[in-house]
Amino acid sequence: MNNDKIWLSSPHMGGNEQAFVQQAFDTNWVAPLGPNVSGLEQDLEKYLGEEVHVGALSSGTAAIHLGLILLGVKAGDEVICQSMTFSASANPILYQGAIPVFIDSEADTWNMCPVALEEAIKDRISKGKKPKAIIPVHLYGVPYKIDDIRKVADQYNIPILEDSAEALGSSYKGRKCGTFGDVSVLSFNGNKIITTSGGGAIVTKTKELKNRAVFFSTQSRDNAPHYQHSEIGYNYRMSNICAGIGRGQMEVLDKHVQARRDMHDFYVKAFENIDGVTVFDVPNGDYFPNFWLTSIVINPAKTKGGKTREDFRIFMETLNIESRPLWKPMHLQPIFSVYPYYGTNVSETLFDDGLCLPSGSNMTQNDKDRMLEAIKVFFG
Ligand SMILES: *Cc1c(COP(=O)(O)O)cnc(C)c1O
Repeated sequence: MNNDKIWLSSPHMGGNEQAFVQQAFDTNWVAPLGPNVSGLEQDLEKYLGEEVHVGALSSGTAAIHLGLILLGVKAGDEVICQSMTFSASANPILYQGAIPVFIDSEADTWNMCPVALEEAIKDRISKGKKPKAIIPVHLYGVPYKIDDIRKVADQYNIPILEDSAEALGSSYKGRKCGTFGDVSVLSFNGNKIITTSGGGAIVTKTKELKNRAVFFSTQSRDNAPHYQHSEIGYNYRMSNICAGIGRGQMEVLDKHVQARRDMHDFYVKAFENIDGVTVFDVPNGDYFPNFWLTSIVINPAKTKGGKTREDFRIFMETLNIESRPLWKPMHLQPIFSVYPYYGTNVSETLFDDGLCLPSGSNMTQNDKDRMLEAIKVFFG
């Protein structure tokens, strides 16, 4: 067995990426626009399969920022955000000078709790401010409670900015994640389900809204022969080189989703007879996750010898295997802890006991054998 590092999730090329990039060089489209950018947008629109419009951007974070701008979020506004997530879900709220209000997870999907959400909305309204937007996240590719969150959002007439950065290829009741928001967001960072080396996209319901996002992303240039600006601009458009990588990746997306789902099956089997370890799974058949990362929860009260998730993480580190605690909730982060939080500490417990395992679509048999051996030796 070789002892190369086993990564949580590493880039996995399909084969045609370089051909698209070569084409960009051959035609001198080495710029933040060009045929690959439009091509990737069309590929994504076709893939998402709803009446949506896609704008390719430099990152998922940029897409969230522009999403907030499209939804009219301004300085001093409040924006509701899932607490257990990557910081990029919340940072753009601060870019806008707005105030994040964090919501706990529920135990079924680990995503935004609809009960805590409604409680927060009522309380914020009673304090004199109706939140401007809601940012729920499909963590690890598992869809949030789509129907319940939508019901609360509609009841109070607040738009949803769907953070689907981890969930390209996931679906709920047969509809693709990335189509559930009033505005939605995808990421193609190096460790995501597909990569453009770095990149993201905004998904909108109308062509006008997409055009508006692209306008902002290319420095908000008014229609004039000289450089004329009436609004704040950003440099957030995707490069035609990166988009070429994305076009190659789109050809293998479904194959890679299947491979990640197979990794989840692999771990379910591997932990089948191990006390105190639960492999995170979906509540029912309505949920079709891409299982971007397979995660486990270790209950030290039930493991042999009281082993914790931190013990397991450190043990795997000695074997050159990467694993990582679940996202640390935003309301526990030094930079965000001053903002309001609503919930019952579900996400805290998950953070204490949860661990993400290597889940790449490019894991080899040798990698899997090493994982099995690690599990066997550690849990006895
Ligand atoms: C990766 C990620 C983002 C940010 O995407 P980038 O393309 O890295 O900027 C946002 N939200 C979540 C939940 C993510 O996992």
